[in-house]
Amino acid sequence: MKLKTPYRFAESTYRVRPINILAIKDELGNVGLGEVEAFQFPNYIDEIQSECVRSLNKRIMPLLGSKDYDTPFEFSRFINSTNGPFMGRAAAEMAIWDLFAKRNNISVQKLMSLAVGDSGKLKTSVPVGVAIGIKSNSQQIIDEIHSQLNKGYTRIKLKINHSYTLKMLEEVRTEFPHVLMMLDANSQFGLKDSSFFKNIDGLNFAMIEQPLGKKDLRDHAKLQERINTPICLDENIFTSEDIWKVINSGAGKIINMKLARVGGIANALAMSSLSESHGLKVWCGGMLETGIGRAFNLALASQKFYSFPGDISASDRYYENDLINETFTLNNGKIDVPTSPGLGVTLNESSQNAFNGDEWIKI
Ligand SMILES: [Mg+2]
Repeated sequence: MKLKTPYRFAESTYRVRPINILAIKDELGNVGLGEVEAFQFPNYIDEIQSECVRSLNKRIMPLLGSKDYDTPFEFSRFINSTNGPFMGRAAAEMAIWDLFAKRNNISVQKLMSLAVGDSGKLKTSVPVGVAIGIKSNSQQIIDEIHSQLNKGYTRIKLKINHSYTLKMLEEVRTEFPHVLMMLDANSQFGLKDSSFFKNIDGLNFAMIEQPLGKKDLRDHAKLQERINTPICLDENIFTSEDIWKVINSGAGKIINMKLARVGGIANALAMSSLSESHGLKVWCGGMLETGIGRAFNLALASQKFYSFPGDISASDRYYENDLINETFTLNNGKIDVPTSPGLGVTLNESSQNAFNGDEWIKI
């Protein structure tokens, strides 16, 4: 996937985004779609695209064909009992849930709501925000925020690193005193930077996402004690056990939920439920998805646990060409949740041609 503009976060700059799509076709010709959300290099978490694809090809697909599953929940339980990268397992689970929903003529959104026992009315749209990559100075940040607000986004997330000073953030806040805004440090800081975060307390950010190391929950707990701005955890969170550690340690008050990072939809729903029942806020993060991953995120973000705007941008945000026919557009800061059977999106012609070049593997 070719990015419209280079995307900088933490220590990396991406110009293209390699991404693998998994398609599973049933005997009726229905096709379930999933995507591998890992990045090319292990700079977000340890998992990378090639490792996830290898795990899908060598391990998950053969296992998928070795057993019968009556429901997608059974498959989710099974896939959780296997090892291997979370984002590889999540891709398989996405495709299975999409396929099952299509076979049963319901939307993935509906299937998720059934999984959490919610019989209430489904949301037709969800509020969304946008993440802005690292910029060189405050004027560039301000210009970019103006541009995103003009498009209709109502929540702005700034990626930050050590090049960002308190003065820069003050200048940004002075320009936009009332915009719902948050920071994401992608694990770039340490406890030694506590005073930087303490100084930010007065700037009214909704949260600071993952300020400290990927394994540093105890340090996050110490930092949270020192600052008022709520800490949101992302790179630390893979399992329900990790949620329990946050609950017990006070390492943060908010969870960024990404279904790929936690090994799939069932885990994301269970962990969201656990978070909410123990007073942790939860919202839906993003991974520079294609339209396929975006549709899964919209379905997830429309579930009862979620109210804070997710990192789910409109289709025109990142890529020159998407893989699907449908276009997600902003409407009053919200994007509509697909409601047709399954995921509610269809592969466009060039993506289908790409698949036709591959062989279907019988499982
Ligand atoms: Mg993050």
